[in-house]
Amino acid sequence: MKKRIGIIGAGILGLAVAYRVQERYPCAKVWVFEKEGGPGRHQSSHNSGVLHCGLYYQPGSLKARLAVEGIRSMIDFCRQHEIPHEVCGKVVVASDARERQFLENLARRGAANGLKGLKFLGTSELKNREPFVRASSSLLVPEEGIVDYLAVMDSLAGIIQYKGGHLQYNSPVRAVKSHHGSGTVVVETPQRETEVDLLVCCAGLHADRLYRACTSEMPPLKIVPFRGEYRMLRQEAERLVNHLVYPVPDPAYPFLGVHFTRLVHGGREVGPNAVLAFKREGYHGSDFSLSDTLDSVTYKGFLRFLVRNFRFTAGEFSSSFSDRAFLVKAQKMIPDITQDQLVSGTAGVRAQAVAPDGTLVMDFSIIRHDSQIHVLNAPSPGATASLAIAGHIVKEYVH
Ligand SMILES: Cc1cc2nc3c(=O)[nH]c(=O)nc-3n(C[C@H](O)[C@H](O)[C@H](O)COP(=O)(O)OP(=O)(O)OC[C@H]3O[C@@H](n4cnc5c(N)ncnc54)[C@H](O)[C@@H]3O)c2cc1C
Repeated sequence: MKKRIGIIGAGILGLAVAYRVQERYPCAKVWVFEKEGGPGRHQSSHNSGVLHCGLYYQPGSLKARLAVEGIRSMIDFCRQHEIPHEVCGKVVVASDARERQFLENLARRGAANGLKGLKFLGTSELKNREPFVRASSSLLVPEEGIVDYLAVMDSLAGIIQYKGGHLQYNSPVRAVKSHHGSGTVVVETPQRETEVDLLVCCAGLHADRLYRACTSEMPPLKIVPFRGEYRMLRQEAERLVNHLVYPVPDPAYPFLGVHFTRLVHGGREVGPNAVLAFKREGYHGSDFSLSDTLDSVTYKGFLRFLVRNFRFTAGEFSSSFSDRAFLVKAQKMIPDITQDQLVSGTAGVRAQAVAPDGTLVMDFSIIRHDSQIHVLNAPSPGATASLAIAGHIVKEYVH
């Protein structure tokens, strides 16, 4: 194939798509347009750095399939390119009888999704592994791990360029022109116009806006930004967490709850919460954008979500404003943690698609529109699954 493929967004997903295109079609010409000065400046570098393997997701969904395939491809890639990672396993902790039931459901889901080695831990097994965790029941997920996603993206970017692909940074795409006769698309950036045969949009927090700008149609979903704030454990308190410790998530939400993560380069992170953000790329609580806020509050789906999830939303805001409320979430699993052991950490903003009826879209969402492919929803575990999502896009849509 001698096609010209344009990709918008040099997050982990856009880079993975470019990498998979070149792998399958060595003669294809590839451009990646990125508005920032380098790769992965948004979600892909503001996440927990965890390799998720598909425990949570509805069996049969695209997410379940691509998460399981994705973690295996990502670990292979890391081994091949000597990227720091570790398959350290994760413990999911139920704190009461209700959560114990949810955890049993999760174990069944995980087994149905093909995860290997899932195991409920006895009291002494849990104590050996995570001595400070208090649990009514706990499930070991041995396939999960931690990774340096920035190193993954640096490696992908290097390979793409080595194979002749063009990574165009500082190149915000504002519009495209579609030529219906030839089926080609002209991508407009401030520097130049580039004609391609197929355009793949992986614009993360701007996915819905890009859909509208490129197709002149309203997107079927809207991105609502949810900021996730982290705290770090002080060095002397790092002994409280050995690996990955997660609560049982509320099945109504795609967020995993405040958890403990051992970072691949050292340190222990606590979080993130899931706070409605007033700016799509706003990493601080005080960040505000009038247009982003208006975009959310004038969307019926967002208002429906708010009405139905007021308690959840208020609870997450309280953990943003109050250190005490954040601590309570952390102490649920590790009661020995004290306020003075937590210091403020980084934050990320999730691009979460919300449907017009107010539901949070759980599955990955990829839509074809003529010569354009739009990834409209790629939340967690989008980084883990990026190579598998990219493989799926290339197989299904790039011919
Ligand atoms: C707090 C948090 C924790 C998470 N934890 C994990 C985890 O532990 N494990 C995991 O697997 N996943 C995790 N995720 C999810 C994961 O980070 C995302 O699924 C993944 O990074 C999505 O990648 P992306 O390339 O689609 O988006 P992004 O990384 O956001 O990239 C989109 C890119 O598009 C660019 N762009 C947008 N508009 C334009 C335009 N008009 N022109 C040019 N460029 C444009 C942006 O600048 C950006 O670089 C987490 C996410 C968050 C926010």
